[in-house]
Amino acid sequence: MKLLNPGPVTLTERVRRAFAAPDTCHREPEFAELVLRVKSKIAAIYDDVKDAYVPVLLTGSGTAAVESMLSSLTFRGGKTLIVANGVYGERAAMMLEAQGKEFTLVKGHWEKALDLRTAETHLAAGGYTHIFTVHHETTTGRLNDVGALGAIAKKYDVPMLLDAVSSFAGEEIRFADWNLEACAATANKCIHGVPGIAFVLAHKSAFTRKTGASSVYLDLFRYEKEQRTGFSPFTQATHCMFALEEALDELRDAGGWQARKAHYRSLTSQVVVACAKLDVPLLLGDVGWYSSMLTSYKLPAGITYEQVHASLKNDGFVIYAGQGNFQGAIFRIAVMGDLNTDDMDRLAEGLTRAIRPRG
Ligand SMILES: *Cc1c(COP(=O)(O)O)cnc(C)c1O
Repeated sequence: MKLLNPGPVTLTERVRRAFAAPDTCHREPEFAELVLRVKSKIAAIYDDVKDAYVPVLLTGSGTAAVESMLSSLTFRGGKTLIVANGVYGERAAMMLEAQGKEFTLVKGHWEKALDLRTAETHLAAGGYTHIFTVHHETTTGRLNDVGALGAIAKKYDVPMLLDAVSSFAGEEIRFADWNLEACAATANKCIHGVPGIAFVLAHKSAFTRKTGASSVYLDLFRYEKEQRTGFSPFTQATHCMFALEEALDELRDAGGWQARKAHYRSLTSQVVVACAKLDVPLLLGDVGWYSSMLTSYKLPAGITYEQVHASLKNDGFVIYAGQGNFQGAIFRIAVMGDLNTDDMDRLAEGLTRAIRPRG
């Protein structure tokens, strides 16, 4: 089965073999050494991370990393500006609400770009201690203009927290230019690891404050401190860690994030062409709005998501439904994981079978 959902992804044989690693105790030095290697390999993905940022590894999915980042790095008495245009941006507001912290939500239209003007109006009014947004808003596939928002954040000297869960290792991230204090990511999207590990890459200076965490398990500060020597406060997803190191090596061997982005772009172009031939329109209208790794399409009249999904599943592909208001109205195709040109050719044939029968 080839997974075309935005994580978990189809594993390569290399990563799958690494997952079947020997049983290892997370309190033993050999596991701590593995963690230290994984940390340095994550930090090496983007050039401008260098020694300024530190990866903090957590056991959980991407949401654990986002929630831990928001919980630990924002603080009571502070105020966060959330600039959202989809499910994941709005989820951050739910998290800060649950933590009882002050925030303003700029709730943008899901089919529109980030509302930079409203964001700037809020920042200009003052009082904000963080700004939060989503890099690749997986709800639609839009790659948000974090560069423009980052410039505004810089102008008002407000550090940014970024949900980069579905873009990390597959899109450019400019840590300094975007005023990033931290970004959250996961092992099983663009890195192609096994689900079970997520991480926050945070500026080291953030850990000179006191933690803002209202959670024991998701307190980033505690993990950061203990992981300086490769150990963690709680049981680690040990097998996932072996798989993650292999996936990071595979990423490096393949040419890093730039090569991965180019690979995604080329696979996505095949999907876009296939859907255009079938008169299936892109939700956002123009391919230029999209990330390299995910596109969304309006379902043609007279055919349900369930029908398209079932037909493609029969051909060995799992596609992804719309969320919220888009449920039943769109489908999404992600090209992360072990996928190649031939897979996309077969997908194009499958899409034709799924969509053309309507006559
Ligand atoms: C996938 C994703 C998450 C986290 O989802 P999990 O299911 O917890 O891994 C968060 N933000 C974005 C933008 C995502 O695409």
